[in-house]
Amino acid sequence: MKILIDNGHGVNTKGKRSPDGRLLEYRYCREIAAEVEKRLRAQGYDAERIVTEEADISLGERCSRVNAWCDRLGTKNVCLVSIHCNAAGSGAAWMNARGWEAWTSKGQTQGDRLADCLYDAAEKYLPKGTPVRTDMTDGDRDKEENFTILHRSKCAACLTENMFQDNKADVDWLLSAEGREAVTRLHVEGIKAYVAKYGRK
Ligand SMILES: [Zn+2]
Repeated sequence: MKILIDNGHGVNTKGKRSPDGRLLEYRYCREIAAEVEKRLRAQGYDAERIVTEEADISLGERCSRVNAWCDRLGTKNVCLVSIHCNAAGSGAAWMNARGWEAWTSKGQTQGDRLADCLYDAAEKYLPKGTPVRTDMTDGDRDKEENFTILHRSKCAACLTENMFQDNKADVDWLLSAEGREAVTRLHVEGIKAYVAKYGRK
């Protein structure tokens, strides 16, 4: 299974940071994505980031990078996880929302199975009491929206929103060694569980 990892945004994306500027979403997500890729590879998985540039790569270009792998290997043999940090406001002020959530495209797809594995890992590796945000109206935990990266990628695709970059407690935790480890680990273990169930290393 080819494991593709996307990190949202780029150094030139406006906003997308904590109100105090300590957390920059593009940088934080790149650091997590690089570590997830490194750990998976060290354990023999075929993991690869689709955006290694610092600049923001358009969603169309990201989808074509993903779909090139799908065309080469078959969609069943590819999965995509896009790593982000959430925000409740515009980034100008601290807000109250907090927690972790994941998104898939609308309808029942293989992405829902990937999201399920990531939710399981989030519940296991995030500290006790962390809100894990769900939408159970369609019978599964993930939230659904046709974000371009999810909708236009042909393979199983899931987007994670790792806590809120405009919640002070979340930002403190995200930037701590413990927070970085938990966010990294939930992706590594969630992806490994998905590969074990639906594919081969
Ligand atoms: Zn984002």
